[in-house]
Amino acid sequence: MTRERLVILGSGPAGLTAALYAARANLEPLVISGNQLGGQISITNEVENYPGFPDGTTGPELVELMQKQAERFGTRIRIDEVVEVDFRKGSPFGIKTHSDEFEASSVVVTTGASPKRLGVPGEDNLIGRGVSFCATCDGFFFRGKQVVVVGGGDSALEEGLFLTRFASRVRVVHRRDELRAGEILKTRAFANEKMDFVWDTVVEEILGNGKVQGVKVRNLKSGQAVEMEAEGVFIYIGHFPNTELFQGQLEMDAHGYLRTDTRMMTSVPGVFAAGEVQDPIYRQIASSVGQGCAAGMMVERWLVEHADHVG
Ligand code: NAP
Repeated sequence: MTRERLVILGSGPAGLTAALYAARANLEPLVISGNQLGGQISITNEVENYPGFPDGTTGPELVELMQKQAERFGTRIRIDEVVEVDFRKGSPFGIKTHSDEFEASSVVVTTGASPKRLGVPGEDNLIGRGVSFCATCDGFFFRGKQVVVVGGGDSALEEGLFLTRFASRVRVVHRRDELRAGEILKTRAFANEKMDFVWDTVVEEILGNGKVQGVKVRNLKSGQAVEMEAEGVFIYIGHFPNTELFQGQLEMDAHGYLRTDTRMMTSVPGVFAAGEVQDPIYRQIASSVGQGCAAGMMVERWLVEHADHVG
């Protein structure tokens, strides 16, 4: 059992920024990476709305820069996953990973969010066989092929546009006749001749034996069901917060997002949270960085105020 002053759970923009601030306050934070160093942005291709990069950047580049900056001031990053936490008795908190156990005076939770699944037949067993949640990772395999993108938000359009570099045709299947995505992406998507839209339509089944061959969709207005050919199905229908580990220990809203106060503290004193795990509204790299900064500053202040108690 190792004793730590601060353990940060998660290594996305919120976690790495909390680490940067805590490290610069000499806390030598330990970051436990989670299953993907850098979190969701590590599988994001283009990032055009993070300030300071007028020509845009890529997710992996941003992760590398944030990691280097946090490490420069004494952050330690461990590639591991947390399997259990014990926040019940207060500080020091118990944290178990696959390979270790820690006792932490304070914790910042930045475990982020994961892509939602459709929950239709064929989806689970065809993941990695044509069903994907990451165009950046898998787009290359669909050179010259037809793919379907499900969803009408920024992610669906951004990743759909990326897929047009490889695929011969990208059909966006959306349940309404209006997109949720912002104007810039809408304009680009409507202008892209490889992209077309199937409105008011839901995917009812992903078809294929061993690999994706198509989708069965239903038009919600006419009620008519048809099968469409596709070799890839990319699903972008939003996210759910990664808070399973904290059930019964930290207060959450009805959708499972952690509740935090204005100082980023959760319902347990000494446990802070930042980024998408507690933010169902903004969900941007810039907002996660801001929340991570706030959590890093507040956890340091909390440790100072509770120094006698936590040692
Ligand atoms: P989102 O904005 O929540 O959009 C999810 C989309 O999936 C919506 O169009 C929704 O339809 C549809 N959907 C939800 N559940 C569905 C279901 N069960 N079956 C079929 N369709 C379903 O999620 P997102 O696109 O991942 O974006 C998340 C956040 O990240 C947003 O704040 C977004 O602005 C941000 N983001 C920004 C950028 C950028 O600025 N470049 C890029 C990516 C993401 P309805 O529209 O009918 O609800």
